[in-house]
Amino acid sequence: MITAEEKLAILADAAKYDVSCSSSGGKRKNEGGIGDSSRSGICHTYTEDGRCVSLLKILLTNYCIYDCAFCVSRRSNDIQRAAFSVNEVVELTMNFYRRNYIEGLFLSSGIFKSADFTMERLMRIVKKLRTEERFFGYIHLKTIPGASEELIKEAGLYVDRMSINLEIPTEEGLKQLAPEKDHDSVRKPLQFVDSQKIMLAEEKKLIKHVPSFVPAGQSTQMVVGATSETDYDIMKISKEFYDSYNLKRVYYSGYIPINNSHNSLPQIGSAPPLLRENRLYQTDWLLRFYKFDLNELLNPEHQHLDLDVDPKLSWALRNPHFFPIDINSASYSMILRVPGIGRGSALKIVQARKFGKLHEHQLKKIGIAFNRAKFFIRYADSIRNWGDLQMDAVRRTILNNGSSKYQAILPSAQLSLFA
Ligand code: SF4
Repeated sequence: MITAEEKLAILADAAKYDVSCSSSGGKRKNEGGIGDSSRSGICHTYTEDGRCVSLLKILLTNYCIYDCAFCVSRRSNDIQRAAFSVNEVVELTMNFYRRNYIEGLFLSSGIFKSADFTMERLMRIVKKLRTEERFFGYIHLKTIPGASEELIKEAGLYVDRMSINLEIPTEEGLKQLAPEKDHDSVRKPLQFVDSQKIMLAEEKKLIKHVPSFVPAGQSTQMVVGATSETDYDIMKISKEFYDSYNLKRVYYSGYIPINNSHNSLPQIGSAPPLLRENRLYQTDWLLRFYKFDLNELLNPEHQHLDLDVDPKLSWALRNPHFFPIDINSASYSMILRVPGIGRGSALKIVQARKFGKLHEHQLKKIGIAFNRAKFFIRYADSIRNWGDLQMDAVRRTILNNGSSKYQAILPSAQLSLFA
């Protein structure tokens, strides 16, 4: 019989393909039990490519009744299978926590027997951790597509974050690789959880002791590069999901070839699209925190992100008529659009210029990436002749002078951490 340790090796390995394990947003307080998930986030570690590794990240099982071609757990894949019992997951979590190995649990699962059969077990695990073990650490639970609302609702009372993976960004791509699935089975639970959150927040205004429900919000994940979708396709659906379901995060996971069984999938040996994944995250960031409109960054005429330069620089190079901006008079929102100036630096500029015009040395002291920003700004002692500025020359200069950590590590394998 397979031991719990052997199961752990199999089911932790199978869980590594899910990147949506960020623990941000947890506010659960310790009320006399064990563990904590404070506002400042639990203690977690990120690999260089942004993956969080401090949660106990496992599948309940890698048995699955579905056969999604991009997934290592698909039923036709000839791999060793295992399944934890409810008690085994609870014990592992508590033992790992007590040994200070982890700060929380990230629990996902293949689907065995049916969606409800699986979801009921996941719900029992999180319920037992909270109510019997008094575990107050962070819990991120993947919802099972097609599970009943009653089970999702009950599980939502015990977890911090819930998520459900969209997997393939377009419905056509999903049909191609996972004909038994559709986007609706992801939209429905996201919609349900969002409406429950809104309803309970309203009730909380009237009744003090309304229980918290998925307090760290929801997220989803898309596999990038398994099908032929464009970056525009990906960001369109991402924006729609952020807007429709109040998602905390959308994760983009570059497809890692796991088999050669499907002709349309990138074959084993192809490098995961790590740089593309990074550009998508940067675009996501610009849309959410820099007030860019999607059509400014991607549109029917410009459907793919520039891999050589980040999306803000790419936008600036395509829109020279906005530049140079005068750093001493431009609005905060326009300063935010300057390549090399982040949100913190933009705020410092607006504060600092109240006391006098800003010069080059002050901008450098504020911490902007001056060698990049200097092509797009005027400041008190700037001497550049703007009439002669050609954006293709700017691009060449920046590319010659800059280096990307992502380019530096390409084409190394994305998952070397787990190898
Ligand atoms: S349903 Fe989920 S676990 Fe099962 S094969 Fe599809 S992606 Fe993999």
